[in-house]
Amino acid sequence: MPDQPTRNRATDGGPARDFADRHIGPDPAALAEMLKTVGYDSPAELMAAAVPDSILTAPGSPAPLDLPAAASETEALAELRSLADRNTVRTPMIGRGYYDTVTPPVILRNIMENPAWYTAYTPYQPEISQGRLEALLNFQTMVSDLTGLAVSGASLLDEATAAAEAMTLARRATKSKSSTFIVDADVFPQTLAVLRTRAEPLGIEVVVADLTEGLPEDEAFGVLVQYPSSAGAVRDPRPVIDAAHDKGAMAVVAADILALTVLRSPGELGADIAVGSTQRFGVPMGFGGPHAGYMSVREGLQRQLPGRLVGVSVDGAGKTAYRLALQTREQHIRREKATSNICTAQVLLAVMAGMYAVYHGPHGLRAIAERVHRQTARLAAGLRDRGFTVVHDDFFDTLRVRVPNGAAGKVEAAAERGVNLLRVDDDTVGISCDETTTDGHLAAVLAAFSGGDKAERPAPEPSSHLPQDLRRGVDYLDHEVFNTHRSETSLLRYMRRLADYDLALDRTMIPLGSCTMKLNATAEMESVTWPEFARLHPLAPLDQAAGTVSLVRDLERWLAEVTGYDAVSLQPNAGSQGELAGLLAIRGYHRGRGEADRDVCLIPSSAHGTNAASAVMAGMRVAVVACDDSGNVDLEDLRAKLAKHEGRVAAIMVTYPSTHGVFEETITEVCDLVHGAGGQVYVDGANFNALLGWAKPGRFGADVSHLNLHKTFCIPHGGGGPGVGPVAVRSHLAGYLPNHPGQPDAGPHTGVGPVSAAPFGSAGILQISWAYVRMMGEAGLRGATEAAVLSANYLAKRLEPYYPVLYTGDNGLVAHECIIDIRQIAKKTGITNEDVSKRLIDYGIHAPTMSFPVAGTLMVEPTESEDLEELERFIEAMVAIRQEIDRVADGKYDPEDNPLKNAPHTAEALTADAWEHPYTRAEGGYPVSRLRRYKYWAPVGRIDQAYGDRNLVCSCPPPEAFEE
Ligand SMILES: *Cc1c(COP(=O)(O)O)cnc(C)c1O
Repeated sequence: MPDQPTRNRATDGGPARDFADRHIGPDPAALAEMLKTVGYDSPAELMAAAVPDSILTAPGSPAPLDLPAAASETEALAELRSLADRNTVRTPMIGRGYYDTVTPPVILRNIMENPAWYTAYTPYQPEISQGRLEALLNFQTMVSDLTGLAVSGASLLDEATAAAEAMTLARRATKSKSSTFIVDADVFPQTLAVLRTRAEPLGIEVVVADLTEGLPEDEAFGVLVQYPSSAGAVRDPRPVIDAAHDKGAMAVVAADILALTVLRSPGELGADIAVGSTQRFGVPMGFGGPHAGYMSVREGLQRQLPGRLVGVSVDGAGKTAYRLALQTREQHIRREKATSNICTAQVLLAVMAGMYAVYHGPHGLRAIAERVHRQTARLAAGLRDRGFTVVHDDFFDTLRVRVPNGAAGKVEAAAERGVNLLRVDDDTVGISCDETTTDGHLAAVLAAFSGGDKAERPAPEPSSHLPQDLRRGVDYLDHEVFNTHRSETSLLRYMRRLADYDLALDRTMIPLGSCTMKLNATAEMESVTWPEFARLHPLAPLDQAAGTVSLVRDLERWLAEVTGYDAVSLQPNAGSQGELAGLLAIRGYHRGRGEADRDVCLIPSSAHGTNAASAVMAGMRVAVVACDDSGNVDLEDLRAKLAKHEGRVAAIMVTYPSTHGVFEETITEVCDLVHGAGGQVYVDGANFNALLGWAKPGRFGADVSHLNLHKTFCIPHGGGGPGVGPVAVRSHLAGYLPNHPGQPDAGPHTGVGPVSAAPFGSAGILQISWAYVRMMGEAGLRGATEAAVLSANYLAKRLEPYYPVLYTGDNGLVAHECIIDIRQIAKKTGITNEDVSKRLIDYGIHAPTMSFPVAGTLMVEPTESEDLEELERFIEAMVAIRQEIDRVADGKYDPEDNPLKNAPHTAEALTADAWEHPYTRAEGGYPVSRLRRYKYWAPVGRIDQAYGDRNLVCSCPPPEAFEE
């Protein structure tokens, strides 16, 4: 092994410091000290000891990666600038579910560009997440009000996948024996395509029907109708909904969220489920995403909702508090019986959309919708005046214009005038207005149609084209929060207050095992909101997106290089969706070889819940493989399962390094055994931060992996999304990657169909991962992996005298995370892993992962980005907590009334006139002295989870709830 460090470090503080030196927390002196504690002379030696020889890219020393040399922050930003300059932003009037919108600057800067919001984690620890939980509750209230349905979830990945989730919800929740789902012929094409991708493996037959003729006779378990339709028509969905109910089917309405401010709600019209996108509520299009999809359901279906749901509960003092509700229906608990595989969703974007409603209020939103409608009506009048046929009389914001054999010409003429229209077919042009549509845009469109050079004047005030009996009053968003913050000062302070409630990466390490909460560098984030990237419509012609496409191709190539695979698709919007795409590729491969019977997916008992849920969605049966006492896949059990399912094994899904935080020595043997049985090997790449630059799954025996760009590749978690979950495959699976009906270049023509609404998924945030790779370069990436593994081993070594570390490899080392076992402590003292997690809040530290993959434990992943001082702060807290536990054990603390059981302590509780606990206030609030200088106060005490599930409330509580 080479002995010298793999990166060149400039002297401290010098101008030549590499970006890698800023990304990696510990400096060389700290790394040396940590190495000494762990007992190795160099990071390379540690890696060689920790990682099995059989998987090291080249045993002994890693093979070089073919990546460009590391760029500085300035250089990378200059390259991004020139990529941005290669994009052409035309006024996007294409529609199809994506509309230009004005992100209120106060929301742009204080949420979208604010690390207090974008670096937060999923709110599983509700006491330190009250801000984002409140913002999500605003989102749920908004969706529930506008759709007229009782319960809304806290966001889904996009409209098309929300529609697919609605389809499977309808199937679960109806008694109908039918396997037919009827879909409106006038639905967004990408929605139909995703429905088809998702229906096929589940044996659901998608029947497309012109619903203006009424519902077909077929038996069906559900119907989806688009409102307004893809072509812009506003039709009364009641006849379809009633006919669906008559045959025992559920009615799903895919509704435009802005149109609902002026149209009667799906709930009022009888729908069981509403789905859609909230993109046009202030979230940039970003060439496809990320945006928050929504789903709301009528009373009685809330337990079937996919994804996360925020609910109201109370804390120990009876104070109103928020937390995630009905968790037991989610994939991390129910696994293959889960209602869906959704884990990471779109929290940051849901927060933005909810704040857009707070910013505008009900009357503001309605005024926007009315203006959009007015502009559309003026355009329609202008086109009719000039002799063109506008197909529908009742519309909201979208027109279909008949131009026999002339569509291409009109679209081109509009493009010359700076406007993108939709070429529906040879004879039809689609035009959609939005919040940003000016008279100038209308004039340009009219000029394009009439062939005039001069700007044309659109018609004056027209009449409404909304059908009389579908018009809606302002019967929504009457809650205080949507009617209070009319001044920017007020809204700014509201957003700041919510941010202050929460602990995000801008205040503390978030040592969550399996989640890789590392630095999201500002230079990586900066270009996300540049209009050249942010304002691109996902269906804009590719030549207008040359810069983004070039960036996409770079990233695909770099990810293929570092993983050792042959082809990559960036389309999946989260790890869970990458899993589904990868399994669909395996399914397609087996079918292509005439082995359609292979439908068993082997999954080790330690796997993440999404794995099993995804396997079911891909039409597979889950067979669990046991783990042995040291946490490794039990090879005997694997052999037994392979024999039992002989000829039926489709795949094994293993996480590497394992979810136990160990580099399993037997991984290559696992791959060989499964291949020998004719199965494919799926390596869940969520833990790729332990391998990057050192080993390539595509070379050590795997056929397919997904990566989580929001873990290893620096996309921030956003409080629970966005994410990007690229799927990477070896060449034999490449023909089965996702593709897209709206963009032939987005995937292979032989592909399995889309798994996301947009051709390139959440293309608007790929700059983050691009910049990370570009600025780290080979040596930086390899150094980051070294530092991540070293930090985890350092924590394991330092904490071992106080807490047992559950699993290690043969050499006594862990990978990039370690599991601290609290089960014995709990048995002896009654202090649980939850008590330790809540007590860490009093120390100002975010809890590690609780009870995954082993109940009663804490999984700690420091990542490479935390410096030694922060690691020491964590160690100090954990050691102090251990001493508190000992006091409980010794009887010095009461077993129930002690600082651990009462954690977190609010300022209110500690300053109350009465203090009746048998420990001091200072022991409660300032257990270590550094807290006297800087202290985070949780806004609520420990939250009663069960109370909230017994009394389910999932929209804003009335103001009285907050009265003292
Ligand atoms: C995070 C994670 C997933 C799920 O990824 P999402 O992006 O949240 O959908 C799957 N497997 C493992 C091991 C993970 O840690």
